[in-house]
Amino acid sequence: MESALTARDRVGVQDFVLLENYNSEAAFIENLRRRFKENLIYTYIGSVLVSVNPYKELEIYSKQQMERYRGVSFYEISPHIYAVSDNTYRAMRTERKDQCILISGESGAGKTEASKKILLYYAVTCPMNDHMAALGDRLLQSNPVLEAFGNAKTLRNDNSSRFGKYMDVQFDFRGAPVGGHILNYLLEKSRVVHQNHGERNFHIFYQLLEGGDEDLLNTLDLERNPQNYQYLVKGNCPRVSSISDKNNWKVVMKALPVIGFTEEEKLLNIIAGVLHLGNTQFGEGEEGETYITTETQITKLVKLLGVDGSALREALTHKKLTAKGEEMISPLNFEQAISARDALAKAVYGRTFTWLVEKINQSLALKGSSVIGLLDIYGFEVLQHNSFEQFCINYCNEKLQQLFIELTLRSEQEEYETEGIAWETVQYFDNKIICDLIEEKHKGIISILDEECLRPGETCDVSFLEKLEDTLGGHPHFVTHKLANGKTRRVMSREEFRLLHYAGEVNYNVNGFLDKNNDLLNRNLKEVSIMKIDKVQAATQFKNSLMKLMEILMSKEPSYVRCIKPNDAKQPGRFDEVLVRHQVKYLGLMENLRVRRAGFAYRRRFEAFLQRYKPLCPETWPNWHGRLVDGVSTLVNHLGYKPEEYKLGRSKIFIRFPKTLFTTEDALEAK
Ligand code: ADP
Ligand code: MG
Repeated sequence: MESALTARDRVGVQDFVLLENYNSEAAFIENLRRRFKENLIYTYIGSVLVSVNPYKELEIYSKQQMERYRGVSFYEISPHIYAVSDNTYRAMRTERKDQCILISGESGAGKTEASKKILLYYAVTCPMNDHMAALGDRLLQSNPVLEAFGNAKTLRNDNSSRFGKYMDVQFDFRGAPVGGHILNYLLEKSRVVHQNHGERNFHIFYQLLEGGDEDLLNTLDLERNPQNYQYLVKGNCPRVSSISDKNNWKVVMKALPVIGFTEEEKLLNIIAGVLHLGNTQFGEGEEGETYITTETQITKLVKLLGVDGSALREALTHKKLTAKGEEMISPLNFEQAISARDALAKAVYGRTFTWLVEKINQSLALKGSSVIGLLDIYGFEVLQHNSFEQFCINYCNEKLQQLFIELTLRSEQEEYETEGIAWETVQYFDNKIICDLIEEKHKGIISILDEECLRPGETCDVSFLEKLEDTLGGHPHFVTHKLANGKTRRVMSREEFRLLHYAGEVNYNVNGFLDKNNDLLNRNLKEVSIMKIDKVQAATQFKNSLMKLMEILMSKEPSYVRCIKPNDAKQPGRFDEVLVRHQVKYLGLMENLRVRRAGFAYRRRFEAFLQRYKPLCPETWPNWHGRLVDGVSTLVNHLGYKPEEYKLGRSKIFIRFPKTLFTTEDALEAK
């Protein structure tokens, strides 16, 4: 049984629960580092898989490897993403309960790669007929399409997903994958109109320009050079050495029909339309009025997007207001016109992405009898400047942490109950107080933000901040410059508020919160026929979709994959301890370990325990013929276990400290 583990697999401990010094962050990181140096990128915390991005191809993902993990339990083989995939699958089959795998980690840590490996594991190892193989194909092929439209090169990851994704894989009663469904979250629409230095827009734009043939580009009125497009030049980074836009274009064009997408022409018209919109320029008249200086762009847009030219012109230069029950048209100034243009581009792109996801869902739509859900979503994010986007992402992580606490404690509790062991309360930090601070009706941050967005009259980001201070002044997890009264260690600016998240402090700059929450689309723009959008404040919309996600996840049995990025240079072999320490903190791994260790470090079924250690006791060797529980009891008495060191449940032995187990292991080795 143990032959599946070699000496090399045993570098450090393969489960952090077995670390003697489990409260020490240094010991935790040292264990990660030692294993990483041996290319052992996976380690458990109980049933949580910690994964460190190797930034190189490891030979551990072959079909033979998949076979090794089939039907084998955690303790018997080295930790692996396939072990999580397989255990989850088996739990779904045997316990008949829906499962989910929650993958978190910062950008570039390997979340998307992990989710792809899980999908591939199911596509390869599950029973399938031809019809199902086609479905598996669709599941796999939806990836390059979503990545083309939702991923971009950033400083931290050449193929960074700029949206959160939850995917259900549906299985039939034989355990074959038969369908799927995708939910997407928080697409980073601002990237359509602006990219930081060294970053790019979404891949699809470059793929089209690089890979589209002459005829296609002519039809779309496009030139091949990305540098001709305002929306593609900001990052000054049209090419990326690790990416072949030309090949990826082919992959995407092939994948579209596989996923049943037939409106390719419309899709490409929109993508080209966005580029032309970006090249639409404005001039300023003598009276401060704004006009369009690039009429040809409007002509192209009319052709590609099928919009009415004069409506578009007016929407880009005027806004419609209702004052005292009367409708009024007021001209936009130069800056306003530019932001109206950009808002339209973002909205069009966002709608297109949603449409694409809907299409993929239609092609995958078939209900099975059980489900494995995969969540690939940004981890806790702390940047130099944190804005509305980080606020939403970190809010999401608070919710996921809450779910983690509830579900982990719940499953521990359930296990103790089934085993008939008295439950002991585990001390942990309950972050509900922070979730409430953000989402509570009427007095939570999101409610206050919405109120400021809807309040008539002079509202601005600063008035929003003041309102926050008035309402939340006494809250232990909320601080601003004024409230702190010079008492905080880190200097805060007057435009910031600080939240004390479960994973640490983050300062959020309120600049742009109102606009981003309003999504900046004025009524005029919405009336341009391509857009029909219900007005819901962005933060509230996100809150609602998070609530739904939590409901989905709550109904399932979770497994966790926590991804860590070992260095910022995207290089193999480098383990930057400072960087890793941050992530260990933001992923709440020490807390994970504490919760897990608060009860019993180690648990094993009686048969397995007896089988392994029976040589250590003359009464159990070579075979024990009585009840299993009595055999285990005889064995541990002989080994001198003290009553506080272990408990016997109905089918399992629970051992409190790893040391007890190590001593027993040493005795076995000495034999
Ligand atoms: P995230 O989704 O967390 O932002 P990705 O999954 O896109 O990160 O990973 C970033 C890059 O790191 C990938 O493009 C790949 O080059 C590398 N990478 C991630 N996981 C692995 C792995 N298990 N093996 C080899 N390379 C990996
Ligand atoms: Mg990703």
